[in-house]
Amino acid sequence: MRVVDLIRRKRDGEEHSSEEIRTLIDGYTRGDIPDYQMSAWLMAAFLRGLSGAETAALTSAMLHSGKVLDFSDVPGRKVDKHSTGGVGDKTSLIVAPIAAAAGVRVPMISGRGLGHTGGTLDKLESIPGFNVNLSLAEFRHALETVGCGLIGQTAEIAPADKKMYALRDVTGTVEHRSLICASIMSKKLAEGLDALVLDVKVGSGAFLKTEADATLLAELMVETGRRMGKQVVALLTDMDQPLGRMAGNAMEIAESLAVLSGAGPDDLRELCLALSAWMLLLGERVKTIEEGKRVAADLIVSGRAREKFREIIKQQGGDARVVDDPKRLARATHTLDVVSGADGYVSATQCEQLGVACVVLGGGREKKEDAIDPAVGLVFHKRIGDGVRRGEPLCTLHYNSDARLDEARRLVETAYKISPRPPAAGRALVGRVIGG
Ligand code: URA
Repeated sequence: MRVVDLIRRKRDGEEHSSEEIRTLIDGYTRGDIPDYQMSAWLMAAFLRGLSGAETAALTSAMLHSGKVLDFSDVPGRKVDKHSTGGVGDKTSLIVAPIAAAAGVRVPMISGRGLGHTGGTLDKLESIPGFNVNLSLAEFRHALETVGCGLIGQTAEIAPADKKMYALRDVTGTVEHRSLICASIMSKKLAEGLDALVLDVKVGSGAFLKTEADATLLAELMVETGRRMGKQVVALLTDMDQPLGRMAGNAMEIAESLAVLSGAGPDDLRELCLALSAWMLLLGERVKTIEEGKRVAADLIVSGRAREKFREIIKQQGGDARVVDDPKRLARATHTLDVVSGADGYVSATQCEQLGVACVVLGGGREKKEDAIDPAVGLVFHKRIGDGVRRGEPLCTLHYNSDARLDEARRLVETAYKISPRPPAAGRALVGRVIGG
Protein backbone atom coordinates (compact mmCIF):
# COMPACT_ATOMS: atom_id res chain seq x y z
CA MET A 1 0.00 0.00 0.00
CA ARG A 2 1.29 3.47 -0.88
CA VAL A 3 1.98 5.79 2.02
CA VAL A 4 -0.13 8.51 0.48
CA ASP A 5 -3.11 6.13 0.62
CA LEU A 6 -2.50 5.53 4.33
CA ILE A 7 -2.41 9.29 4.90
CA ARG A 8 -5.63 9.71 2.91
CA ARG A 9 -7.34 6.93 4.87
CA LYS A 10 -6.48 8.57 8.18
CA ARG A 11 -7.35 12.01 6.84
CA ASP A 12 -10.80 10.65 5.99
CA GLY A 13 -11.26 9.19 9.48
CA GLU A 14 -10.89 5.52 8.57
CA GLU A 15 -9.42 2.92 10.91
CA HIS A 16 -6.05 1.35 10.07
CA SER A 17 -5.32 -2.34 10.41
CA SER A 18 -2.32 -3.38 12.54
CA GLU A 19 -0.61 -4.35 9.31
CA GLU A 20 -1.00 -0.84 7.90
CA ILE A 21 0.37 0.73 11.06
CA ARG A 22 3.35 -1.64 11.05
CA THR A 23 4.04 -0.80 7.39
CA LEU A 24 4.03 2.91 8.21
CA ILE A 25 6.24 2.66 11.29
CA ASP A 26 8.70 0.18 9.77
CA GLY A 27 9.01 2.28 6.61
CA TYR A 28 9.60 5.45 8.58
CA THR A 29 12.16 3.80 10.87
CA ARG A 30 14.10 2.47 7.88
CA GLY A 31 14.10 5.92 6.29
CA ASP A 32 11.96 4.83 3.31
CA ILE A 33 9.15 7.16 4.35
CA PRO A 34 10.26 10.81 4.51
CA ASP A 35 9.53 13.24 7.36
CA TYR A 36 6.97 15.16 5.30
CA GLN A 37 4.78 12.09 4.82
CA MET A 38 5.05 11.08 8.46
CA SER A 39 4.22 14.67 9.46
CA ALA A 40 1.08 14.55 7.33
CA TRP A 41 0.04 11.21 8.83
CA LEU A 42 0.70 12.45 12.37
CA MET A 43 -1.49 15.49 11.78
CA ALA A 44 -4.25 13.34 10.30
CA ALA A 45 -4.02 10.99 13.31
CA PHE A 46 -4.01 13.98 15.65
CA LEU A 47 -7.17 15.44 14.08
CA ARG A 48 -9.04 12.19 13.46
CA GLY A 49 -7.86 10.21 16.48
CA LEU A 50 -6.82 6.59 16.83
CA SER A 51 -8.98 3.77 18.18
CA GLY A 52 -7.87 1.59 21.12
CA ALA A 53 -6.81 -1.12 18.66
CA GLU A 54 -4.85 1.38 16.54
CA THR A 55 -3.15 2.78 19.65
CA ALA A 56 -2.14 -0.72 20.75
CA ALA A 57 -0.86 -1.50 17.24
CA LEU A 58 1.07 1.77 17.12
CA THR A 59 2.65 1.13 20.55
CA SER A 60 3.63 -2.38 19.54
CA ALA A 61 5.03 -1.32 16.14
CA MET A 62 7.08 1.44 17.79
CA LEU A 63 8.28 -0.88 20.55
CA HIS A 64 9.36 -3.53 18.03
CA SER A 65 11.02 -0.98 15.76
CA GLY A 66 14.05 -1.68 17.96
CA LYS A 67 15.40 -3.99 20.63
CA VAL A 68 13.38 -4.99 23.67
CA LEU A 69 15.85 -5.30 26.53
CA ASP A 70 15.86 -8.22 28.89
CA PHE A 71 17.29 -7.61 32.36
CA SER A 72 15.69 -10.67 33.95
CA ASP A 73 19.16 -11.93 34.90
CA VAL A 74 19.94 -8.72 36.82
CA PRO A 75 18.86 -9.38 40.41
CA GLY A 76 16.17 -7.18 41.99
CA ARG A 77 13.05 -5.47 40.72
CA LYS A 78 13.45 -3.10 37.81
CA VAL A 79 11.18 -0.08 38.18
CA ASP A 80 11.04 3.19 36.27
CA LYS A 81 9.03 6.40 36.43
CA HIS A 82 7.94 8.55 33.53
CA SER A 83 6.16 11.86 33.32
CA THR A 84 3.89 12.96 30.50
CA GLY A 85 5.69 16.31 30.59
CA GLY A 86 5.40 19.65 32.29
CA VAL A 87 7.17 22.89 33.15
CA GLY A 88 9.91 22.65 35.77
CA ASP A 89 9.25 18.92 36.02
CA LYS A 90 12.58 17.58 37.22
CA THR A 91 11.36 14.70 39.36
CA SER A 92 13.28 12.01 37.41
CA LEU A 93 16.55 13.56 38.57
CA ILE A 94 15.45 13.12 42.17
CA VAL A 95 13.42 9.92 42.26
CA ALA A 96 15.88 7.84 40.23
CA PRO A 97 18.68 8.26 42.82
CA ILE A 98 16.24 7.82 45.72
CA ALA A 99 14.89 4.54 44.33
CA ALA A 100 18.36 3.28 43.40
CA ALA A 101 19.64 4.17 46.88
CA ALA A 102 16.81 2.01 48.28
CA GLY A 103 17.95 -0.96 46.20
CA VAL A 104 15.46 -0.74 43.34
CA ARG A 105 17.06 -1.05 39.88
CA VAL A 106 16.16 1.92 37.71
CA PRO A 107 16.70 1.47 33.96
CA MET A 108 15.49 4.89 32.83
CA ILE A 109 15.20 5.79 29.16
CA SER A 110 14.12 9.40 28.81
CA GLY A 111 13.36 11.95 26.14
CA ARG A 112 14.42 15.45 25.22
CA GLY A 113 12.39 18.62 25.61
CA LEU A 114 9.12 18.43 23.73
CA GLY A 115 7.02 21.46 22.84
CA HIS A 116 6.90 23.76 25.85
CA THR A 117 8.13 21.06 28.27
CA GLY A 118 11.68 20.25 29.30
CA GLY A 119 13.30 16.84 28.85
CA THR A 120 15.41 14.81 31.27
CA LEU A 121 18.16 14.24 28.69
CA ASP A 122 18.65 17.95 28.02
CA LYS A 123 18.79 18.59 31.76
CA LEU A 124 21.34 15.83 32.35
CA GLU A 125 23.50 17.11 29.50
CA SER A 126 23.84 20.42 31.31
CA ILE A 127 26.11 18.52 33.73
CA PRO A 128 29.49 18.87 32.01
CA GLY A 129 30.55 15.57 30.45
CA PHE A 130 27.37 13.65 31.29
CA ASN A 131 26.85 11.01 28.62
CA VAL A 132 23.24 10.03 27.97
CA ASN A 133 24.30 7.94 24.98
CA LEU A 134 25.55 4.82 26.73
CA SER A 135 25.72 1.67 24.69
CA LEU A 136 23.35 -1.04 25.80
CA ALA A 137 26.28 -2.92 27.36
CA GLU A 138 27.19 0.19 29.35
CA PHE A 139 23.57 0.71 30.34
CA ARG A 140 23.42 -2.84 31.68
CA HIS A 141 26.70 -2.33 33.52
CA ALA A 142 25.34 0.86 35.14
CA LEU A 143 22.23 -1.00 36.23
CA GLU A 144 24.26 -3.87 37.69
CA THR A 145 26.77 -1.69 39.54
CA VAL A 146 25.24 1.69 40.46
CA GLY A 147 21.65 0.40 40.20
CA CYS A 148 20.57 3.08 37.75
CA GLY A 149 21.24 4.19 34.20
CA LEU A 150 19.81 7.40 32.70
CA ILE A 151 19.94 7.30 28.94
CA GLY A 152 18.21 8.38 25.77
CA GLN A 153 16.90 6.08 23.15
CA THR A 154 19.89 4.45 21.54
CA ALA A 155 19.64 3.68 17.86
CA GLU A 156 18.49 0.26 19.07
CA ILE A 157 15.66 1.27 21.44
CA ALA A 158 12.32 2.35 20.01
CA PRO A 159 14.03 4.18 17.12
CA ALA A 160 10.61 4.92 15.63
CA ASP A 161 9.72 6.99 18.70
CA LYS A 162 13.05 8.77 18.63
CA LYS A 163 12.34 10.02 15.10
CA MET A 164 8.64 10.65 15.63
CA TYR A 165 9.17 12.46 18.93
CA ALA A 166 11.49 14.99 17.27
CA LEU A 167 9.02 15.43 14.42
CA ARG A 168 5.97 15.83 16.66
CA ASP A 169 7.81 18.46 18.66
CA VAL A 170 7.96 20.77 15.65
CA THR A 171 4.75 19.88 13.81
CA GLY A 172 2.14 20.62 16.47
CA THR A 173 1.28 16.96 16.97
CA VAL A 174 2.31 16.35 20.57
CA GLU A 175 -0.91 16.80 22.53
CA HIS A 176 -2.81 13.68 21.56
CA ARG A 177 -3.39 10.90 24.06
CA SER A 178 -2.84 7.99 21.64
CA LEU A 179 0.39 9.49 20.32
CA ILE A 180 1.60 10.25 23.86
CA CYS A 181 0.68 6.76 25.04
CA ALA A 182 2.47 5.04 22.14
CA SER A 183 5.52 7.29 22.54
CA ILE A 184 5.92 6.76 26.26
CA MET A 185 4.96 3.11 26.43
CA SER A 186 7.10 2.04 23.44
CA LYS A 187 10.20 3.41 25.21
CA LYS A 188 9.23 2.14 28.62
CA LEU A 189 8.25 -1.35 27.54
CA ALA A 190 11.62 -1.69 25.79
CA GLU A 191 13.48 -1.11 29.05
CA GLY A 192 13.21 -4.60 30.45
CA LEU A 193 11.39 -3.41 33.54
CA ASP A 194 9.00 -5.12 35.92
CA ALA A 195 6.95 -2.09 36.91
CA LEU A 196 6.37 1.51 35.93
CA VAL A 197 5.13 4.59 37.78
CA LEU A 198 3.55 7.18 35.50
CA ASP A 199 3.19 10.83 36.44
CA VAL A 200 0.31 12.05 34.30
CA LYS A 201 0.19 15.82 34.36
CA VAL A 202 -3.02 17.79 34.13
CA GLY A 203 -3.52 21.54 33.85
CA SER A 204 -2.46 24.60 31.90
CA GLY A 205 1.19 23.45 31.65
CA ALA A 206 0.41 19.85 30.69
CA PHE A 207 -0.17 18.50 27.21
CA LEU A 208 -3.62 17.43 28.34
CA LYS A 209 -5.40 20.29 30.06
CA THR A 210 -8.47 18.63 31.55
CA GLU A 211 -8.79 15.91 34.17
CA ALA A 212 -11.07 13.97 31.85
CA ASP A 213 -8.40 13.82 29.09
CA ALA A 214 -5.56 13.12 31.51
CA THR A 215 -7.56 10.33 33.14
CA LEU A 216 -8.21 8.73 29.74
CA LEU A 217 -4.48 8.91 28.94
CA ALA A 218 -3.61 7.39 32.31
CA GLU A 219 -6.09 4.56 31.81
CA LEU A 220 -4.81 3.95 28.28
CA MET A 221 -1.20 3.69 29.47
CA VAL A 222 -1.99 1.52 32.49
CA GLU A 223 -4.00 -0.80 30.25
CA THR A 224 -1.28 -0.91 27.55
CA GLY A 225 1.37 -1.75 30.15
CA ARG A 226 -0.72 -4.45 31.74
CA ARG A 227 -1.44 -6.05 28.40
CA MET A 228 2.33 -6.41 28.06
CA GLY A 229 2.59 -8.02 31.50
CA LYS A 230 3.94 -5.01 33.44
CA GLN A 231 2.70 -3.55 36.71
CA VAL A 232 1.77 0.05 35.93
CA VAL A 233 0.43 2.77 38.21
CA ALA A 234 -0.45 6.32 37.13
CA LEU A 235 -0.63 9.34 39.45
CA LEU A 236 -2.62 12.31 38.20
CA THR A 237 -0.67 15.39 39.29
CA ASP A 238 -1.20 19.11 39.03
CA MET A 239 0.48 21.17 36.32
CA ASP A 240 -1.55 24.39 36.56
CA GLN A 241 1.69 26.06 37.59
CA PRO A 242 5.37 25.15 37.27
CA LEU A 243 6.75 22.48 39.56
CA GLY A 244 9.29 23.94 41.95
CA ARG A 245 10.83 27.37 41.53
CA MET A 246 12.97 26.87 38.46
CA ALA A 247 12.65 25.94 34.79
CA GLY A 248 15.69 25.66 32.53
CA ASN A 249 18.14 22.84 32.11
CA ALA A 250 21.10 23.65 34.39
CA MET A 251 18.84 25.48 36.85
CA GLU A 252 16.71 22.36 37.23
CA ILE A 253 19.78 20.27 38.00
CA ALA A 254 20.64 22.78 40.74
CA GLU A 255 17.11 22.62 42.14
CA SER A 256 17.14 18.81 42.08
CA LEU A 257 20.41 18.83 44.00
CA ALA A 258 18.79 21.14 46.54
CA VAL A 259 15.97 18.62 47.12
CA LEU A 260 18.45 15.76 47.36
CA SER A 261 20.30 17.83 49.97
CA GLY A 262 17.16 18.19 52.11
CA ALA A 263 16.18 21.66 50.90
CA GLY A 264 14.28 22.80 47.80
CA PRO A 265 10.66 23.77 47.35
CA ASP A 266 7.88 21.91 49.18
CA ASP A 267 5.77 21.03 46.13
CA LEU A 268 8.69 19.41 44.32
CA ARG A 269 9.74 17.51 47.41
CA GLU A 270 6.17 16.33 48.11
CA LEU A 271 5.69 15.01 44.59
CA CYS A 272 9.10 13.31 44.60
CA LEU A 273 8.29 11.55 47.86
CA ALA A 274 4.97 10.33 46.45
CA LEU A 275 6.54 9.06 43.21
CA SER A 276 9.47 7.48 45.06
CA ALA A 277 7.08 5.77 47.46
CA TRP A 278 5.28 4.12 44.53
CA MET A 279 8.61 3.08 43.00
CA LEU A 280 9.65 1.52 46.32
CA LEU A 281 6.30 -0.23 46.69
CA LEU A 282 6.37 -1.69 43.16
CA GLY A 283 10.07 -2.43 43.71
CA GLU A 284 9.07 -4.50 46.77
CA ARG A 285 11.25 -2.51 49.16
CA VAL A 286 8.31 -1.35 51.30
CA LYS A 287 4.82 -2.59 52.13
CA THR A 288 2.82 0.65 52.06
CA ILE A 289 2.95 4.07 50.44
CA GLU A 290 3.34 5.73 53.85
CA GLU A 291 6.36 3.55 54.59
CA GLY A 292 7.70 4.36 51.12
CA LYS A 293 7.48 8.09 51.79
CA ARG A 294 9.26 7.65 55.12
CA VAL A 295 12.05 5.58 53.58
CA ALA A 296 12.46 8.08 50.72
CA ALA A 297 12.60 11.01 53.17
CA ASP A 298 15.21 9.13 55.26
CA LEU A 299 17.34 8.51 52.17
CA ILE A 300 17.41 12.26 51.61
CA VAL A 301 18.17 13.12 55.24
CA SER A 302 20.96 10.53 55.46
CA GLY A 303 22.53 11.90 52.24
CA ARG A 304 22.37 8.45 50.61
CA ALA A 305 20.17 9.61 47.73
CA ARG A 306 22.52 12.50 47.01
CA GLU A 307 25.51 10.15 47.09
CA LYS A 308 23.68 7.88 44.67
CA PHE A 309 23.22 10.81 42.29
CA ARG A 310 26.96 11.47 42.54
CA GLU A 311 27.67 7.82 41.65
CA ILE A 312 25.29 8.01 38.69
CA ILE A 313 26.97 11.17 37.38
CA LYS A 314 30.44 9.62 37.73
CA GLN A 315 29.35 6.39 36.11
CA GLN A 316 28.07 8.33 33.10
CA GLY A 317 31.20 10.46 32.72
CA GLY A 318 29.79 13.67 34.21
CA ASP A 319 31.54 16.19 36.42
CA ALA A 320 30.38 14.99 39.85
CA ARG A 321 31.82 18.12 41.48
CA VAL A 322 28.51 19.83 40.65
CA VAL A 323 26.93 17.83 43.48
CA ASP A 324 28.85 19.82 46.09
CA ASP A 325 29.23 22.94 44.00
CA PRO A 326 26.21 23.59 41.74
CA LYS A 327 27.83 26.90 40.75
CA ARG A 328 29.93 24.84 38.36
CA LEU A 329 26.80 24.44 36.23
CA ALA A 330 26.35 26.86 33.33
CA ARG A 331 24.89 30.20 34.37
CA ALA A 332 23.32 32.88 32.20
CA THR A 333 25.02 36.24 31.98
CA HIS A 334 21.90 38.44 32.35
CA THR A 335 18.70 38.54 34.35
CA LEU A 336 15.46 40.47 34.00
CA ASP A 337 12.64 40.65 36.55
CA VAL A 338 9.06 40.52 35.36
CA VAL A 339 7.03 42.42 37.95
CA SER A 340 3.38 42.53 38.89
CA GLY A 341 1.35 45.38 37.40
CA ALA A 342 -1.10 45.42 40.32
CA ASP A 343 -1.58 44.67 44.00
CA GLY A 344 -3.48 41.44 44.64
CA TYR A 345 -3.07 37.69 44.52
CA VAL A 346 -1.78 35.32 41.86
CA SER A 347 -5.01 33.56 40.94
CA ALA A 348 -3.80 31.50 37.95
CA THR A 349 -0.84 30.97 35.65
CA GLN A 350 -0.90 30.17 31.97
CA CYS A 351 1.79 27.61 32.65
CA GLU A 352 2.35 26.49 29.05
CA GLN A 353 3.26 30.09 28.20
CA LEU A 354 5.94 30.01 30.90
CA GLY A 355 7.37 26.88 29.28
CA VAL A 356 7.31 28.56 25.87
CA ALA A 357 9.14 31.58 27.34
CA CYS A 358 11.92 29.25 28.46
CA VAL A 359 12.10 27.76 24.94
CA VAL A 360 12.18 31.25 23.40
CA LEU A 361 15.16 32.15 25.61
CA GLY A 362 16.98 29.13 24.12
CA GLY A 363 16.18 26.51 26.78
CA GLY A 364 14.31 24.30 24.31
CA ARG A 365 13.98 23.63 20.58
CA GLU A 366 11.66 25.10 18.00
CA LYS A 367 13.21 23.12 15.13
CA LYS A 368 14.60 19.69 15.70
CA GLU A 369 18.15 20.72 14.80
CA ASP A 370 18.16 23.69 17.27
CA ALA A 371 20.91 23.72 19.89
CA ILE A 372 19.95 24.24 23.53
CA ASP A 373 21.44 26.84 25.83
CA PRO A 374 21.73 24.96 29.15
CA ALA A 375 22.16 28.12 31.22
CA VAL A 376 18.95 30.00 30.46
CA GLY A 377 15.66 29.67 32.30
CA LEU A 378 13.11 31.15 34.64
CA VAL A 379 12.94 31.53 38.41
CA PHE A 380 9.39 31.72 39.72
CA HIS A 381 8.91 33.87 42.80
CA LYS A 382 5.15 33.64 43.22
CA ARG A 383 2.82 30.69 43.28
CA ILE A 384 -0.93 30.57 42.88
CA GLY A 385 -2.53 32.03 46.02
CA ASP A 386 0.46 34.19 46.93
CA GLY A 387 -0.14 37.87 47.63
CA VAL A 388 1.81 40.32 45.49
CA ARG A 389 2.40 44.09 45.44
CA ARG A 390 2.58 46.22 42.33
CA GLY A 391 6.19 46.27 41.12
CA GLU A 392 7.14 43.11 43.01
CA PRO A 393 8.91 40.42 40.90
CA LEU A 394 6.78 37.51 39.77
CA CYS A 395 9.50 35.78 37.80
CA THR A 396 13.13 36.36 36.80
CA LEU A 397 14.33 35.57 33.29
CA HIS A 398 17.91 34.29 33.02
CA TYR A 399 19.22 34.83 29.50
CA ASN A 400 22.33 35.09 27.38
CA SER A 401 20.96 36.76 24.25
CA ASP A 402 18.39 39.52 24.10
CA ALA A 403 17.36 38.63 20.55
CA ARG A 404 13.96 37.37 21.71
CA LEU A 405 13.91 38.78 25.21
CA ASP A 406 10.86 40.99 24.59
CA GLU A 407 8.87 38.04 23.35
CA ALA A 408 9.82 35.96 26.40
CA ARG A 409 9.04 38.86 28.74
CA ARG A 410 5.60 39.38 27.19
CA LEU A 411 4.83 35.66 27.48
CA VAL A 412 5.72 35.70 31.17
CA GLU A 413 3.91 38.98 31.91
CA THR A 414 0.67 37.72 30.40
CA ALA A 415 1.03 34.26 31.99
CA TYR A 416 0.25 35.58 35.48
CA LYS A 417 -3.31 36.45 36.41
CA ILE A 418 -3.49 38.86 39.35
CA SER A 419 -6.85 39.20 41.11
CA PRO A 420 -7.97 41.38 44.01
CA ARG A 421 -9.02 38.39 46.12
CA PRO A 422 -7.24 35.09 46.84
CA PRO A 423 -8.35 32.24 44.52
CA ALA A 424 -10.36 29.25 45.74
CA ALA A 425 -8.23 26.19 46.54
CA GLY A 426 -7.03 24.53 43.32
CA ARG A 427 -6.46 20.92 42.43
CA ALA A 428 -4.39 18.79 44.84
CA LEU A 429 -0.75 18.40 43.79
CA VAL A 430 -1.13 14.62 43.82
CA GLY A 431 -4.61 13.54 42.81
CA ARG A 432 -6.13 10.23 41.75
CA VAL A 433 -4.05 7.11 41.45
CA ILE A 434 -5.05 4.86 38.56
CA GLY A 435 -4.13 1.20 38.61
CA GLY A 436 -2.81 1.26 42.18
N1 URA B 1 6.79 12.16 26.83
C1 URA B 1 7.10 11.25 25.87
O1 URA B 1 8.04 10.47 26.02
N2 URA B 1 6.36 11.26 24.76
C2 URA B 1 5.31 12.09 24.57
O2 URA B 1 4.67 12.02 23.54
C3 URA B 1 4.98 13.02 25.57
C4 URA B 1 5.75 13.04 26.71
